[in-house]
Amino acid sequence: MAHTITLIPGDGIGPEVADATRRVLEASGVKIEWEVHNAGAAVAEKRGTTLPDEVLESVRRNKVALKGPIGTPIGKGFRSVNVTLRQALDLYANVRPIRSLPGVEPRFEGTDIVIVRENTEDLYAGLELMIMPGVAQSIKLITERACARICEYAFDYAEKMNRKRVTVVHKANIMKLSDGLLLEVFRKVAMRFPRIEPAEVIVDACALQMVKNANKLDVIVTENLYGDILSDLGAGLVGGLGIVPGANIGISSAVFEAVHGTAPDIAGKGIANPTALVQSAVMMLHHLGEHTAATKIEKGLLATFQSGVRTADLSGTAGTEDFTRALCDAIGRA
Ligand code: ATP
Repeated sequence: MAHTITLIPGDGIGPEVADATRRVLEASGVKIEWEVHNAGAAVAEKRGTTLPDEVLESVRRNKVALKGPIGTPIGKGFRSVNVTLRQALDLYANVRPIRSLPGVEPRFEGTDIVIVRENTEDLYAGLELMIMPGVAQSIKLITERACARICEYAFDYAEKMNRKRVTVVHKANIMKLSDGLLLEVFRKVAMRFPRIEPAEVIVDACALQMVKNANKLDVIVTENLYGDILSDLGAGLVGGLGIVPGANIGISSAVFEAVHGTAPDIAGKGIANPTALVQSAVMMLHHLGEHTAATKIEKGLLATFQSGVRTADLSGTAGTEDFTRALCDAIGRA
């Protein structure tokens, strides 16, 4: 049976990496019917919005979307597509696997962790005020409900993906009420998942540990701001934003996306690295239960990197087309 999936190629290098990813998925044998929609800077001027209604309707209907990087025209009053999608679909869990690829950043070879970031509250709730001239206040909003669903998601993910441990990252020694609430909920949720070992680490110690011995953390669950910072640290460990995937998961829909930007400096030059979006597509296949096709692509990616085929951002000489062809061939052999 074919899956119907919304594809938002995006801006800048988006269409190039989206096209490469479609070909890679096809090579894996999975059957997908795409509903292709434009969003972002490409439609903003014409349609007066970065996210036309039919795009949101398509994601709601299909429940799964694959999205390239999207630009928001700055200073023209347009809302970010990413923020709008996240709010409209209540995509509460941001999931970022951080895994090394052969030959890329050899200092961190063997890194394999997953960051599960709460996506809807914390300092991102937008609750800021000037108490008086010269004194600003930002409100860190943490609710029991959001803590419970993100912790449940992390433990559930750990069980499904055969992980051993979930580490909650917090600063409850300082923020006793807000981060303390996360910790309290985490401990309760952990009791319902006896096969997964729970662990607790303070955010600064976590940053150190990620560089020294990341794998001990296994699956990290954390609040919005810590998750934002640690995700980029994680991306840096394994070769940068050009290769790490991401997913935004809600109760009824999920959006899989490249976490890098539109890279206007290289758009249209045929040198973009499609790995990040390809790896996001692998996450999408696991989400759809298409584990065989997902594993084929994972093996193909490993073989391609092992053979030394790399794009310019990873000091290689392959263009997007060379890399995609090598990857599709490797998937054929996987
Ligand atoms: P935006 O404004 O959309 O965030 P940006 O250029 O500020 O775009 P990124 O798109 O993340 O931010 O790019 C940062 C740098 O990384 C750029 O030099 C870009 O060319 C490079 N880069 C990002 N993604 C890729 C990719 N997939 N392949 C190759 N290079 C990439």
